[in-house]
Amino acid sequence: MPVAFLGLGAIGAPMAAHLTSTDRLTVWNRTRAKADAFAREHSATVAATPKEAASGVTVLLTCLPTSAEVDAVLFGKDGAAPALASGAIVIDCTSGDPASSRRIAARLAEQGVAFVDAPVSGGVPAALKGELPVLLGGQSVAVERARKVVAAFGKKIVHLGPVGAGHAVKAVNNALLAANILAASEGLTALVKAGIEPRLAVETINASSGASFTTQVLVPARVLNGSYPPLFRHALLDKDCGIAVELAAEMGVERPVLQAVKTRMAELRAILGEAADYMDPFARAERSAGVEIRG
Ligand code: NDP
Repeated sequence: MPVAFLGLGAIGAPMAAHLTSTDRLTVWNRTRAKADAFAREHSATVAATPKEAASGVTVLLTCLPTSAEVDAVLFGKDGAAPALASGAIVIDCTSGDPASSRRIAARLAEQGVAFVDAPVSGGVPAALKGELPVLLGGQSVAVERARKVVAAFGKKIVHLGPVGAGHAVKAVNNALLAANILAASEGLTALVKAGIEPRLAVETINASSGASFTTQVLVPARVLNGSYPPLFRHALLDKDCGIAVELAAEMGVERPVLQAVKTRMAELRAILGEAADYMDPFARAERSAGVEIRG
């Protein structure tokens, strides 16, 4: 099947790589050199523009920072949408925002093109293994089509509701992740400064009621080892927290905790910069307290 993939970033590239075994893949990336490098390593054709990538394909996947970039690559200059034939489907793996996705879906529907939001969870290691949870939002018929495509890189593939439902659940999930990262970075730093052995503290928490994915997986694999490879930008996690706050506001739900997390994430984004990794708040907490959480 001819498939196009737009956006070969940290997570997009390993996802697209899995499609090369089942599909005839065309890739496009804003920085052309990354697409060329991808095509040298995998069986894929490089398109010069989103429009060129979309011509002749029935399935188009996007994996971009936010829904704003998805809108631009579909409907902007040299955008993909006008090149898509009626009956095609757009599968958006961006962690986007529900309201934008509903607008994009409505616009695509005018030309007979279906839209499914399909954000992924699990990070780069799961993407490399082709074992990403995929959170689908859309109409049932389109979702069943999308399910077959994302199976190339997905493991737990869940249909959560209409267009935007995948993005909504993804945003809340990531806001919870951010809350745990921020709280664990502050709490563990305090414990180490109080003279407690870091690994012992983490193991005790992980056998207790404060355990989370952050303390069970991320802290042992990365913080205790002093390993901070760039896998997922803090700026993108901050963006997800913003989507979660907007969703709660739209639903009229009180949100002081989500708002506090979003505020702190934005402050750290300003301090750490756009390229910082989502685990860098730990490194910063260590630096500012003059301790190391190692062991
Ligand atoms: P990266 O920042 O690594 O890559 C972003 C991609 O979008 C690159 O291909 C980049 O192109 C492209 N891009 C950026 N701005 C534009 C633009 N204005 N127009 C066109 N293309 C643009 O992001 P990730 O791959 O990490 O994340 C992509 C999405 O997946 C995000 O929504 C993120 O929240 C989500 N996600 C990421 C995970 C991760 O672990 N990394 C995990 C789960 C979800 P260029 O190469 O030119 O910069």
